[in-house]
Amino acid sequence: MNLVATTLLGPGRTNPSKVAIATVDGRHMRYADLDRLSGQLANLLVHRYHVNEGDRVAVQSPKCPELLALNIACARIGAIYVPLNTSYTDRETRLLLDDASPSLLVRETLIEHDTPRVDVHGLVHQAHEESTHFVDVTCGENAPAAMLFTSGTTGRAKGALLTHGNLVSNCQTLNEVWGFTPHDTLLHALPLFHTHGLFVGAYCALSSGASMILMENFDAREVLGQVSSATVFMGVPTYYVRLLAEPGLDREIVKGMRLFTSGSAPMLRVTHEQFAERTGHDIVERYGMTETGIITSNPIDGTLKVGTVGRALPGVNIRVTGGSPGDIEVKGPNVLGEYWNRPELRATEFTADGWFKTGDVGVVDDDGFLEIVGRAKDLIITGGYNVYPKELEMVIDTFAGVLESAVIGLPDADFGEAVTAVVVAQADVHLDEAQLVVMARSSLANFKVPKRFIIVTELPRNAMGKVEKARLRREFTHG
Ligand code: AMP
Repeated sequence: MNLVATTLLGPGRTNPSKVAIATVDGRHMRYADLDRLSGQLANLLVHRYHVNEGDRVAVQSPKCPELLALNIACARIGAIYVPLNTSYTDRETRLLLDDASPSLLVRETLIEHDTPRVDVHGLVHQAHEESTHFVDVTCGENAPAAMLFTSGTTGRAKGALLTHGNLVSNCQTLNEVWGFTPHDTLLHALPLFHTHGLFVGAYCALSSGASMILMENFDAREVLGQVSSATVFMGVPTYYVRLLAEPGLDREIVKGMRLFTSGSAPMLRVTHEQFAERTGHDIVERYGMTETGIITSNPIDGTLKVGTVGRALPGVNIRVTGGSPGDIEVKGPNVLGEYWNRPELRATEFTADGWFKTGDVGVVDDDGFLEIVGRAKDLIITGGYNVYPKELEMVIDTFAGVLESAVIGLPDADFGEAVTAVVVAQADVHLDEAQLVVMARSSLANFKVPKRFIIVTELPRNAMGKVEKARLRREFTHG
């Protein structure tokens, strides 16, 4: 049996005429269409593009329903699906292609690389000539299904190799915890190249035989235009902030909804509060990462705790080591076994007793709810006190004239590390260091107040847009 294909197509086979995926512009793909097209694509990939079990298929394509059929086709072949962020530059894409050495690149525009390339619509067109019948390659729990490059802020990107078992166990557990049924309609606004949109959003919907409304991009107004036809929405905190900026967001428009979830980044308490006030709905915050899928979720029965990311999912174990707050480690069927081409990472990214080190720092309360306080490598210890940069950044970003900030620790004879804030001003605003200190003093405990504010024109960022703190630390240590 092929775990991913059976899980994603199985429920729809009992109701083949049901719409699996609808688009905002009125197209729809029924479960039978998805089943057939994935079979045709599997045949095409094998016969014409010589994609075989274990081969990589890189996909860097604007979001469309056919990508899900392509993803399932790869699973049916036993090939490894490698989605790439569509905003990578050609230089970045080439580096990842060199690493993944795929048999095929599915992308619209030309790129200088020796991987054969085809665009998704061309592929679908060719696939229509193929038989819909395909005998799935047997893929059990340990067979690789996908590889996603993580957005680590140091060194080169790592390819997280996820197995059929990782993906299937996680979406089945989420279906239970979030109560997915065939009666649900997921309003899908997340990208399909990231674990959140693909393995959480799309996989939960398909594996429970539900329907999806696929939006090409997130657009707050368009979400409001579609939300009355949906029952579930998944987002990142920014989506909710933008939705709150829409006057049309009210109780009436979301009255058919049963679940809003958020993750991938921390959500501010004020966002939770404003959303609950405007819509009558809680936002269920959950926590996960590329290497592990979803690790924890708040409950959906109204007993959630704002400020936490909920409890470990059934079958998933978490522990916090080295103090409280301490390092969050995870073990379970959702956790990747290895990174692509990097066997040495097994020793550095896992503990000796086999737990995956998330790199996040957190606290678990008496009820088992996890609160994330930051990333381990960014923790600052100043005069013996732990300072979590994220907490400070969230405060500093609210100061008048501040566009964004990054808080780092710099070596200091007195304090060990001195809390330092690197700040970017809003356009045409002149920031004054002394004034920033005054504002910080009024909202932060003394030991957290940055010893210095350094004003820069922009923050250095990696390919995924995460701030490169190691670079900032190097730059300002001697400056
Ligand atoms: P990625 O692998 O790109 O999904 O990034 C995973 C990282 O995002 C985690 O290690 C956390 O640092 C962060 N993250 C994910 N969900 C949350 C959340 N609900 N709250 C705070 N941080 C989160």
